[in-house]
Amino acid sequence: MKPHRILISGAGIAGLALARCLQQLGIEHVIIEKNNQSNPSSSGIALPFNAMQALRKMGLAETILESSHQVNEIIYAKRNGRTISRASLLEAPLNQDKFVAMRRSKLHEILLDGIESHIHFGTTIQSAKSSDEGVNVTCSNAALSGQYDAVVSAEGIHSTLRDQCFPDENTLLDHNISNWRFVIDYPNHELQPTYMLENTELFLTYPIGPNTLYCYAHVYDDSEQFKNGSPQTHLRNLFGKFGGNVNNILDCLGDQPVICSRLRSVRKPYYAKERIVFIGDAGSACSPLLQQGAASAFEDALCFAEQCHKHDMDKAIFEYQRIRSPRVEWVVKTSDDPIKKLKMMANPIGATIRNMIIRRKGPLNVQGWKHLAVK
Ligand SMILES: Cc1cc2nc3c(=O)[nH]c(=O)nc-3n(C[C@H](O)[C@H](O)[C@H](O)COP(=O)(O)OP(=O)(O)OC[C@H]3O[C@@H](n4cnc5c(N)ncnc54)[C@H](O)[C@@H]3O)c2cc1C
Repeated sequence: MKPHRILISGAGIAGLALARCLQQLGIEHVIIEKNNQSNPSSSGIALPFNAMQALRKMGLAETILESSHQVNEIIYAKRNGRTISRASLLEAPLNQDKFVAMRRSKLHEILLDGIESHIHFGTTIQSAKSSDEGVNVTCSNAALSGQYDAVVSAEGIHSTLRDQCFPDENTLLDHNISNWRFVIDYPNHELQPTYMLENTELFLTYPIGPNTLYCYAHVYDDSEQFKNGSPQTHLRNLFGKFGGNVNNILDCLGDQPVICSRLRSVRKPYYAKERIVFIGDAGSACSPLLQQGAASAFEDALCFAEQCHKHDMDKAIFEYQRIRSPRVEWVVKTSDDPIKKLKMMANPIGATIRNMIIRRKGPLNVQGWKHLAVK
């Protein structure tokens, strides 16, 4: 078999993971990134057991464990702090690996270690044309232009390559949900991840260290009324009435930076178009309900690299789609279905039924993780 030569576009979680996997297998690759330097957002990230399993296969689990915070339980509560349901993460089938959370910047630092000097920063693909031989690429850095056996878009949710490959499709779906994310110092909190629910509002507190919290909040917002203005003021107005630690957290937040965005997903998963392959959010971005973004990116990277190691490129791409599609489709659907119903929670009857289901079946994400653990 002729050795493969692969171009990876995007040095986020998915692109870095794939570069590491290809490097481990001795497969030639080039990685480019449109930004001039690595630029992860200043928020946190939760990594469920299957993200840790994938990191273990990549040889990074011990380093991640040293730099992250383990969580043991998920709590869903009403806005007044009263518990609706709680579930242990230390019992079967979830105890296959640890659930951890950390700063995104730290995760990037670990993924970058040893490969940063190979990344061509400030570089993009200008055109990519598939043929029977591979993909003919023109790059903004002319030295990288030429023929590759495959091009992998790891460009994230707003992938340019995906939109170029599917010009007639409106590939992204806006869920009409505004969200805010921030990290704060909160000494000796002794908290476990807590989801506080009120109609369409959610305030999530996720510890990423003994003295540090990652917070995520969202609300249904089809008129984009929270697009402008101060995020701190929106958070106060929407969540100031919440109980538990929310008011203390908002006091600690002060004027510190908050990331504001809209929740978006791909309308359907994308795996490949001819010799152009999609991994991570470029192919399967979905709501973060199950916190599967990093796990999916790692699993995509491991799978595609392994298939490239075993097969010629056409077979590798075919096998990548065949192996990944059942799981990816399940994750996207299960992550997005409750989010698509969020508007119905504006009606108190809808919210009451949701809470009854959570009380009976357990936290929504824990239900999903249990399914993934036995799949
Ligand atoms: C609110 C929110 C909370 C989330 N919480 C979690 C969580 O707790 N746990 C979890 O696992 N996941 C979470 N996710 C999902 C997770 O953030 C994504 O799944 C993950 O970042 C995807 O990684 P990626 O590498 O595919 O894309 P990205 O992280 O977006 O990286 C894409 C990279 O490609 C580069 N790029 C883009 N376009 C080009 C181009 N044309 N040419 C070259 N380079 C390009 C970008 O600069 C970037 O470096 C969350 C998502 C959201 C929106």
